[in-house]
Formats: sequence, structure tokens, C-alpha cells
Amino acid sequence: MSSDRHRPQAAETDPPDRGFDPESRLRSRAAADLRRDLAPVDRVGPRARTAPDPGGDAPAWDGERLVLASNDYLGLAGDDRLAAAAAETAREVGTGAGASRLVVGDTPAHRALERDLAATKRTERALVFSSGYAANVGTIAALDPDAVFSDALNHASIVDGCRLSGADVEIYDHGDPEALRGAMGQRARDVDTTDESWLVVTDSVFSMDGDVAPLAALCDAADAFGAWTMVDEAHATGLHDGGGGIVQREGLSDRVDVQLGTLSKALGAQGGYVAGSDPLVEHLLNAARSFVFSTGLAPPAAAAAREALRIAREGDRRDRLWNVVSRTREGLEAMGYEVLGGTQILPVLVGDRADAVALADRLHEAGVVAPAIRPPTVPEGTSRIRLAPTAAHTPDDVDRCLAAFEAAGTESGLI
Ligand SMILES: *Cc1c(COP(=O)(O)O)cnc(C)c1O
Repeated sequence: MSSDRHRPQAAETDPPDRGFDPESRLRSRAAADLRRDLAPVDRVGPRARTAPDPGGDAPAWDGERLVLASNDYLGLAGDDRLAAAAAETAREVGTGAGASRLVVGDTPAHRALERDLAATKRTERALVFSSGYAANVGTIAALDPDAVFSDALNHASIVDGCRLSGADVEIYDHGDPEALRGAMGQRARDVDTTDESWLVVTDSVFSMDGDVAPLAALCDAADAFGAWTMVDEAHATGLHDGGGGIVQREGLSDRVDVQLGTLSKALGAQGGYVAGSDPLVEHLLNAARSFVFSTGLAPPAAAAAREALRIAREGDRRDRLWNVVSRTREGLEAMGYEVLGGTQILPVLVGDRADAVALADRLHEAGVVAPAIRPPTVPEGTSRIRLAPTAAHTPDDVDRCLAAFEAAGTESGLI
């Protein structure tokens, strides 16, 4: 039988082509220098090789490289203790949740993790999602605010959550509580807002700048207008006081209404969470569509994240990270590099986009994987190398990294 049998009979006149042309879209992307590729590696951790490509293409690089490009800040994604916790739960509970947690997918692994997350975040309750992305999108839409006041550099999943919520979105200048007050004041003057609900939302640590939002001042501003606050701790959870984030470090657990984050960065697992009051969590498990209409987080991921939270609480893994970070920062600054931020993320400023790409290539040749970040991700003239050391990097690794930066920077005349 011919493979044409599902095709409709040829019409008198052919319909116009209403399909898509992915190839032309790829060409436009390439022309705008926005085309991206997958980055295969053989394993997760501080050092990696490129994975053999089943398609037979030449590997992207030879030999082992030092990976300074992950968000596995505590180096736990390759930790045996997490693997053991995940394996035990896979055998005892299952590899997949099998259904939404509102049907039959709610397991002891989820409950235990949520109890520990709530304790770490010092909230009444917590709820886990299948990713941080899903947590942001589902939560903002379920809160259904009339207006969202959002930092100009907030993560894409916050931006998408704002869009999906249908709220008026007011973008305020990055990290600027006065700009936030200005935006709220403006709206209060322009519209009758007495019945409105407002949400102020910010990352606590910004991925590309490695800087920290002034959370206490943002809370003050939100309070002055009666708005709620939501803080995304994706790049902070696990790294600060008691294994918490910046909200805990700054003593703001009682002032931030919605604490949100991911289990897939410092906690080395997969998934996202929201922590807050009991009614908030109860509302979200009813109304967040990315929770209701999505299979529960895989139980082994929940078990791994819980083990990571335990390790993060102990503290020596965190101490190790901050040691590696300060040694790396000091070494780079001593060579004459300008390093932005004030967290575990070290954005090494280069300036020109072509120079940043050339530096990343040279580092790669020298065995260091760290991406060049350029416009439109960051403003023109502020292209940079984003360096993310982890607790799994050894003093030798730090020396290797610094030597590569010294050689590459000297060759290209940057230092
Ligand atoms: C990575 C990230 C997310 C998404 O988390 P995933 O678990 O990777 O989906 C959300 N918010 C911020 C600020 C992030 O950096």
C-alpha cells in the first residue's frame, strides 16, 4: 500500500503553504548571531570530556576540560550520597510519579522533601514542581495579580509567568528600590488601584551579573504600597545560612511572601519549589496549572534534592565553595581582570563581544570551559566570561583555571 494513503486527494487548486520553514528561521538566527548548539559532555561535574556523538560527528573537543560553566555550585550533581538516595527511592517508590500528585502521584519522597524545604526556608509549607521554570510560570499565573512589578533583569521563567498571568507588567530598573517605589507610585496615581493585587518579583542573585537584589529595601517599598513580594532564589538556595538562600541570610523569611527556587542548581537534582504560608501552598496545589496538569516530580529527584539539602545544611560543602570562589576571584583580580558581582558567580568583564568570544575560545584551547556572554543577553560593551566555580573544584583546578586566564589574557592583550 502506498504511503500516500492518508493524504487527501489532490484538490482542484493547491492550498497555500501554511506550514513552517524552520530552516529559514535558523538562517535568520544565524545571521543575527543567535544560533545555538547543544553542548554534549560525558558526565556532570568539575571535569568532563565531550560525549561521543552517536551521529558520528567529530567531538566538539578532545580530552578532559575543566568545567566552570555549570550551576552545580555545591558540586552535588555527581555526589555518591545523592545517587544512593535516588537509587534507593527509585527501587522503593518508583522512577516516575506516574500521575499528578492530585491523583496518585503524591509519595512519601515528595512529602519529606517539602517538610525539609519548609524548615530550611522557615515557612509553614513548601510545594515542589517539576522544574523551577514550571514553578515560576505556574505560581505567578495562579496568583493572578492585577499588576506585577518586575526587575529588568529577572529570569525568563519570571517573564513568561508574568505574560501568562495577563497582569500589567511594570519593569523597574535593575536592583533599584527607588525605581520600584516610583513605578508603584505612578500606578497608584494613574489608576484606581484600591481593589488591585500587586506582586513585586525579583531574582535574589542574578545569573549573568552575579549581584544580589537589595531585598530588605524592596520589601520596604512593597510594604509601603501593600504589595506582595516574591523572590526567586534559583542561584542562592543551598548556599547560605542553614542551607537557605539570601532571604535567610538577610533574615527576611517572615517578610517575603513567596520564596521560590530550583532543586537543579546547587541542590544537584531536578525540580522547582515554592515555600510560603499554608494557604498559599494550598492555593497553588489547586490553581497552578503547571502543578495540576503535570506529573509529580520524579521521586528519585525528590530524594536526591532532600539529601542535598541535608548536606547543604551541614555547611562544610558551602565553606568549600566560598573558598574556591574567593581564591579564583582574588587570582583574577591580581592579574588585572575586572570581576563583577559579589556571589559565587564570577562574571569576568571583557567588553567587546568579539574579544569575549575570542577569550572563551582561547580558554577552551587551554582546557577551561566557560561561556562568553554577549548581547542581547547583556548590554553592548559589557560582554564577559561567566565563570562558575563549584565546591567540587580542587585547589589544583583553581590553579589550572588561573593559569589559563593568565595565558589567554596575555596573548589577547586583555591584561
Ligand atoms: C534556572 C533558573 C530557573 C529555572 O529553574 P529550572 O529548575 O532550571 O527550570 C528559574 N529562575 C531562575 C532565576 C533561574 O536561574
